[in-house]
Amino acid sequence: MVEMRPMKVVVLGATGSIGRQTLEVAEAFYPDCQVVGLAGGNNLDLLEKQVLKWRPRRVAIGNETLKDQIKNYPGLNQTEIFWGMEGICHLAAFEDADLIIQALGGAVGILPTVSAIRAGKRIGLANKETLVAAGDIVIPLAQKCQAQIIPVDSEHSAIFQCLQGEKSAVKALWLTASGGPFYQWTEADLEKVRVEDALRHPRWQMGAKITVDSATLMNKGLEVIEAHHLFGLPYDAIEVLIHPESAIHSMIETVDHALIAQLGTADMRLPIQYAFTWPARKKSLAKRLNLADIGSLHFVHPDMKKFPSLKMAYEVGKTGGTLPTVMNAANETAVAAFLDRKIGFREIYRITQTMTERHAEISHPTLEEILEIDRQTRIQTESYIYKFDKKGEMRCKLS
Ligand code: MG
Repeated sequence: MVEMRPMKVVVLGATGSIGRQTLEVAEAFYPDCQVVGLAGGNNLDLLEKQVLKWRPRRVAIGNETLKDQIKNYPGLNQTEIFWGMEGICHLAAFEDADLIIQALGGAVGILPTVSAIRAGKRIGLANKETLVAAGDIVIPLAQKCQAQIIPVDSEHSAIFQCLQGEKSAVKALWLTASGGPFYQWTEADLEKVRVEDALRHPRWQMGAKITVDSATLMNKGLEVIEAHHLFGLPYDAIEVLIHPESAIHSMIETVDHALIAQLGTADMRLPIQYAFTWPARKKSLAKRLNLADIGSLHFVHPDMKKFPSLKMAYEVGKTGGTLPTVMNAANETAVAAFLDRKIGFREIYRITQTMTERHAEISHPTLEEILEIDRQTRIQTESYIYKFDKKGEMRCKLS
């Protein structure tokens, strides 16, 4: 933080994992940092606690069906409340805010990101699905509006940190992946994965959707596409390396074949904090990394046969247009069905793959076309997964 006056922050997705950790960072920087806006979705209990603690000027609640319940939360009524997508977009462009932490989950983050960009905000972007689904629109728009996007995804923050002061061309990006809980499992074992197994991530504490994506390696696939948009490198120059210790958060390779890495403990508060302090650095809540305690670091190539989602993401990214939008929307829908115990683990890939194969892509879609295809894909994926029985209850079609 270089300014003398307090930095004013809006947190979108305040009650989620990244949102909560953002508020820990904000607390560590208080009073040099003030929270002026909070946006949440469904968890009004936690949102009320956050409002009572931070006293933000404005609050947005994404789920408009909760309007009737608001009388039960007197703490929330002390602030100005905005509702629905319009409300979240309003907070994303809050005239008082210096920094917007965009920690919404999924492609629902597209419009709020666009809103923050049009307002010329500095955006700490933790919401990778926005770039996967609409990167070709979002990145050029940010350049046009001079909005600074600072990646909060740990790998992309690592690359962003490695690029600071780097004046010459970068040859390749190396994204590291812990491999998730199943990287040593056999293909037969993967057919039997339960929800509990998939939610047990070995290194990172994260929300349910991204934890499942990490287990299928779709998360790394989404991150490859995210890196392509953020750093402007072709897909052939973006490599993925399984690194179970998660000490190296990612690397850049320069034209002279130097590898430059950022290392640290697996603590999301570090990349979150860098979005606050960039281009400076400040003392962090994250623990120090002592390499002697780890002893050795391991690296293996990802097994694309066992984890075909990663291969699919490369292919879909290279094709571009609306295909990444479809892959993302189908994956979000399939992961939700898996978490709901309606489909098996491996079916997440099979369903997503089927939806991408069925799609006739548009090469240069408008923002409106992207939003419409995202919406349609969710409906089509759900009807592919479920059929209604005579009682009107959803029943799984596939398993
Ligand atoms: Mg990541």
